[in-house]
Amino acid sequence: MTTAAIIVAAGRGTRAGGTLPKQWQPLLGRPIAAYAIARFAAHPAIAQVVLVLHPDDIPTDLWPRETAVTIATGGATRAASVLAGLQAVDADVDKVLIHDAARPLVSAALIDRVLAALDTSSGAAPAVAVTDTLWRGSAGAVQGVQDRDGLFRAQTPQGFLLAPLLAAHAASTGQETDDVAVARAAGLDVAIVPGDEDNIKITTPADFARAAKLMRHDMDIRCGNGYDVHRFGPGDHVWLCGVQVPHHSSLQGHSDADVGMHAVTDAIYGALGKGDIGQHFPPSDPQWKGAASHIFLKHAVALATSSGYSISNVDCTLVCEFPKIGPHQDAMKAVMAAYMGLDSDRISVKATTSEKLGFTGREEGIAALATVTLMKS
Ligand code: MG
Repeated sequence: MTTAAIIVAAGRGTRAGGTLPKQWQPLLGRPIAAYAIARFAAHPAIAQVVLVLHPDDIPTDLWPRETAVTIATGGATRAASVLAGLQAVDADVDKVLIHDAARPLVSAALIDRVLAALDTSSGAAPAVAVTDTLWRGSAGAVQGVQDRDGLFRAQTPQGFLLAPLLAAHAASTGQETDDVAVARAAGLDVAIVPGDEDNIKITTPADFARAAKLMRHDMDIRCGNGYDVHRFGPGDHVWLCGVQVPHHSSLQGHSDADVGMHAVTDAIYGALGKGDIGQHFPPSDPQWKGAASHIFLKHAVALATSSGYSISNVDCTLVCEFPKIGPHQDAMKAVMAAYMGLDSDRISVKATTSEKLGFTGREEGIAALATVTLMKS
């Protein structure tokens, strides 16, 4: 069985405030939809993530690029958008989970519950039983009590076997409000699995604060440090944080000896608890001789992403008397940002001398220190 997740992010809704459709509005610095995309992509049972976008959004930089997704073009209605997503799944997919992009707090356990129910039902969806007393009211006054017995608040992801759901969409009148309604109209059974109170749908401006609070509550933040030294030898330039800087000597090393990039790379490995640069790229292996260090950095970033982390910020300090780093700082930030898929304002490259003390003071080599922060996506 192969499962695809379809994230429906084609809506234009701005009820949550602001001018952007709500799925692209920032929540703790990232678009709301980015959280659901990352959570499904990191789930071991999900082989493919399909992101359904409004046609106007596809060429923009609104949607997150850090996770590999299949893009589908949304239609005029939610049902049309879901159908576009269903038609974009890989040929071997036989189960789908359809999720609202405005529910950023979907948990792996909830995904597991929906998938488990699909072993015995053609459809399954999470819901929370209504426990509050329900009133009927008008003109600001209570008019009566509504029996809450058997009432549930519906959530997503809604899961289905692909073939019967495609048949149900083909037979749909287009009037149904969600996929459970489409499936039931076609006679499919849809099991209810326990939902999650934290799996909220962001609808109003107040929901942003609530989601941010919940997210901080289960936020997994990791910090790593890196330190590296390379000695000077004959040459006419050094590589520092991806920038070639003219100098009367070069840094010696097995690779291009980019001491700053090595420190940042090691900091990422350190935060993940996954060794260091020498373990992943042994100096004894001739294939790394003279290698450009961005190969190492990109490997560490990919390892972070595949482990479910995104990089929040990087701070790198180069310790040397010469060359002067200031004129190259902005270029170094831009180059590192491009390799890491980050905004350059999340990267700091700074420098200090060591007051002519020690090996860096005697200009025998350059040292670099780096700190990175990773956040669970
Ligand atoms: Mg090194």
